This record gives sequence, C-alpha cells and structure tokens, in this order.
Amino acid sequence: MTAKLIDGVAIGKELRSEINDGVRKLLEKGCQPGLAVILVGNNPASHTYVRNKEKSSIEVGMKSEVIRLSEEVTEAELLKQIESLNADDTIHGILVQLPLPKHIDEDLVIQAIDPKKDVDGFHPVNVGKMLIGQQTFLPCTPYGIMELLDRSGVDIAGKHAVVIGRSNIVGKPMGQLLLQKDATVTYCHSKTKDLSSITKQADVIVAAIGKSKFITDEHIKEGAVVIDVGMNRDENGKLCGDVDTEKAKAVAAAITPVPGGVGPMTITMLLKNTLRSAEMAVTEGRCSKKA
Ligand code: NAP
Repeated sequence: MTAKLIDGVAIGKELRSEINDGVRKLLEKGCQPGLAVILVGNNPASHTYVRNKEKSSIEVGMKSEVIRLSEEVTEAELLKQIESLNADDTIHGILVQLPLPKHIDEDLVIQAIDPKKDVDGFHPVNVGKMLIGQQTFLPCTPYGIMELLDRSGVDIAGKHAVVIGRSNIVGKPMGQLLLQKDATVTYCHSKTKDLSSITKQADVIVAAIGKSKFITDEHIKEGAVVIDVGMNRDENGKLCGDVDTEKAKAVAAAITPVPGGVGPMTITMLLKNTLRSAEMAVTEGRCSKKA
C-alpha cells in the first residue's frame, strides 16, 4: 500500500479563500476583522511564526497589529497591553505568542484575554466550552486537523482514534474533538506501556510528540490514517515530523506530510476564529467602523 498524501496546503488555500469571502462580507457592513499579536522577546522561531500570522491575516483582508515588547517587559505591563486590546473595538482576535519569558506567568496572561477575543482557544472558559461541546473558539491545531480529516473524506464515527501526546494545546483538545465526532479515543503519552500494541489498533493515529520520526510502520495498522503534528529538525537540520513518513507510507492509507500537512492549517484556523469573532462583534454591535 502507498498512502495517499493529505494536502494541507491545498485544503488551507481553499479555506483561506472562504475566509476572504467572509471578510469581504464584513467589510460591506463597515467592519474589518482585526487580529492583534503580542510578541515578547527575541525568540527567532516566535518571530517567524508571528511574521507568518501577520502576512496571512493581511492576505485575507484583515487588519493586523503586531505589538513587539522587550524581553524585560514586566507582567503588569503585558497585562495592561492586553486590557487595552480587550477594550479596542477594531481588534477581534488577541494572541500572545508563547513561550513567554520565565518571569511572566503564562496562565495569568492567557486568562487576561477576553474569552470573546481568545482566537487561540486557550482561555479556560473556552477550553471548558469545548469540553462540553458548546460553540467556542477551538484551539487552532486540533481544529485544523478536524478540517483536514473532514475535507479529505475521512469518516471517523465509530473508528478507533489513538492520540499520542496530551499537551493542552494539541493532544488533549484533539482527543476531545475526535470524541465529539463519535470516534472511540485512546490517549497515549510518555508513561504509556507498549505503545505500538495500542497504536496498532488505531484506525486514525494523531502523533503530537515532538520527537523526530518516532512513529514508524511498526506502530501502524495496514490502512490506518496517520496525522503527523510534529515539527522537528532531523539530524541534518531538515524539518521533519513525529512520523517516519517513508516507512509509514508503506502501510497507511493516508498520511499528512511534514511540511505541508498540519502546519498550514494552524494559521488558517486562527484566521477562521478571528473572522468568527468579528462576525459575532457585528451581530452584537461591538465592531467599530472600518479601521
Ligand atoms: P509537548 O507539550 O512537548 O507534548 C508532547 C507530548 O508527547 C507529551 O504529552 C508527552 O507525554 C508525549 N510524549 C513524549 N515522549 C513520548 C513517548 N516516548 N511516547 C509517547 N508519548 C510521548 O508538545 P506539543 O506542544 O503537544 O507539540 C507536539 C509536536 O507538535 C511538536 O513537535 C510541536 O513542534 C508540534 N506542533 C506543531 C504544530 C503545527 O501547527 N504543526 C502546532 C503545535 C505543535 P507526557 O505528557 O507524559 O510528557
């Protein structure tokens, strides 16, 4: 068997075109969706992520505001900045790029964001809503994976989905979203014993581990769908996933490549959440005239 590649670039493009249509409709009503990103310090990877978010939001017609703060900014100053964005009617999405410097409490910062503008879906209020299946901003990476599965025609109802990883931003919400679509879900993590005996039972595997090419054909049942969340560097410094794609392709029915699978979907879903937030603001009369 040679696995079909699930093309995150193509699916992301299709979605961004839909988002662009949505932005145009809001512009006709006098509202331009606005996304604010706060970047603290000089982490090179964070700078790249923020640049990509800025570029992508402008491409779909949104207002983009990037607030760059020094590594030495105090927690109080950062919280004040968030407070001001919470009150700004031209901003519908607020994102604080993680990680933050050690002297700042990340939980406190996330909780300071107005849940109505928490387009990352990390605020405890939105996490709780997601858990009980209420409409809310879903965390972008798992949300993007659900779109990839849906738009690739993968039916997950009644299937056994195995999620490897239990982080708050990927693994945990991933399992919940799969459960809501009627999959039978198993979580695995670093303390899981005999990992391959569990993953071998999976119809769908989501690998969110952070270890280069960790999942091989030995972990995969013939015909399974494999979603590779990992973004790692291999021994030659080349971007690679948590799955050994070449080995996995021999047994899987479908697989996401790295790069070009899950990655492009994450920013796309951030834009989708920002659009939704702006649409809600218009309905509730909270959107200022076009910025
Ligand atoms: P994380 O917070 O480090 O979590 C990693 C998870 O993997 C943990 O739950 C850990 O278990 C588990 N794990 C570690 N070693 C394991 C092993 N030997 N067997 C089974 N499970 C093991 O990472 P994350 O933030 O979820 O990210 C995971 C990967 O996805 C990273 O490569 C990251 O760069 C990538 N990522 C990509 C995107 C994207 O847009 N493509 C977005 C976010 C993250 P414990 O809980 O027991 O420690």
